[in-house]
Amino acid sequence: MTEAVDLSFLSPEERGLLERLHASPRFAAPNGGPLVHIVGARPNFVKLAPLFHALAPYRQKVIHSGQHYDRSMSGSFFEILDLPEPDLNLSVAGGSHAEQTAKTMIGLEQAFAAERPAAVIVYGDVNSTLAASLVAAKMHIPAIHVEAGLRSGDRDMPEEINRLVTDRLSDLLLTPSRDGNANLLNEGAAPESVMFVGNIMIDTLVRLLPKIEQAATELEGLPERFVLVTLHRPSNVDDTASLARITAALDDIAAKVPIVFPVHPRTRAKLDELGWAPPADRVTLGEPLDYVSFVALQKRSLAVVTDSGGVQEETTFLGRPCLTLRTTTERPVTVDSGSNILLGDDPASILPELEKILSGQGKAGSVPEFWDGKTAYRIRAILEGLDLCQPA
Ligand code: UDP
Repeated sequence: MTEAVDLSFLSPEERGLLERLHASPRFAAPNGGPLVHIVGARPNFVKLAPLFHALAPYRQKVIHSGQHYDRSMSGSFFEILDLPEPDLNLSVAGGSHAEQTAKTMIGLEQAFAAERPAAVIVYGDVNSTLAASLVAAKMHIPAIHVEAGLRSGDRDMPEEINRLVTDRLSDLLLTPSRDGNANLLNEGAAPESVMFVGNIMIDTLVRLLPKIEQAATELEGLPERFVLVTLHRPSNVDDTASLARITAALDDIAAKVPIVFPVHPRTRAKLDELGWAPPADRVTLGEPLDYVSFVALQKRSLAVVTDSGGVQEETTFLGRPCLTLRTTTERPVTVDSGSNILLGDDPASILPELEKILSGQGKAGSVPEFWDGKTAYRIRAILEGLDLCQPA
């Protein structure tokens, strides 16, 4: 193992496990190829950026599946996060889960045959994450999962299926919180494949915090106090009756506190079907925002109502009260130590919680271990330790 690598964040026992992983068949003889990152959707870009920058001295490529493709969901993120254009875009936008996954697999199989990656790095829980881990496993390429081990326990969520399969097939499982390690070990993952590195999404937030703070002071035309809303989970927005219950609850909230609601494209189509037209002076409906503006809004908000995974984490880091309209969360640390409250699936439960926040009894919470802006450097040290990095 390379000597200069700073693995001091690992305990002696964890370093022993890393050595054992290095000696395992998948990692014993790195092929000298580039590291290849696979991304497809908005939350992936926020996770890719810190590791891409940390690995700047080394050979690396980025493949975008094209699941999210327009400026508001993809292009603006590459710009704000200082990421170059992807080396390859598979343009698989649209279609069913099976269509998207299958097309991504076909594109990746060809790309991996041409690139011969030393390892493939996948992020989070989207369809391209699943597709890449499957293709890599069949081509005997080491697969590294960043944000491994998260479990909602709800297999009705498409993301949960992606998490389960990706973790089963990946060779190195890098977790954002220690509950991830426990989940993976309970499922029988090899102990040497599981490493706690911290939350990479928070790296991006920490790096851009000065810009976010600046943007928070410059946001114009906003009410003094407002609730930020973001919703896109199929369980909330796909079914018209469920979405109608949510919009009714939002009408009640807006009567007390104005709402700012940047609408995800999936949700926009369903809201249009429903014909929801709240008063414009109480509810600001807009397009999805760029990352810096959106996190600035989180920072300025009285509270955030969401079903997003990443937003549960960002609000915990920012110490903003977060009301999550879901029955489960794969990020329990945001509830146990952070500012997140899991409301269940009844939107009528939002208002009573909001009233507590208005009366100064919002949940504050604390920032979890290793959510410190240095996760990408911990990952880099592990990849260097496994001799997977080649000078650019
Ligand atoms: N986000 C954004 N603009 C928006 C809404 C969300 O930049 O209008 C960011 C948010 O700050 C977080 C990420 O997108 O970094 C979360 O992505 P999303 O909610 O789509 O996915 P999930 O985390 O639920 O998988």
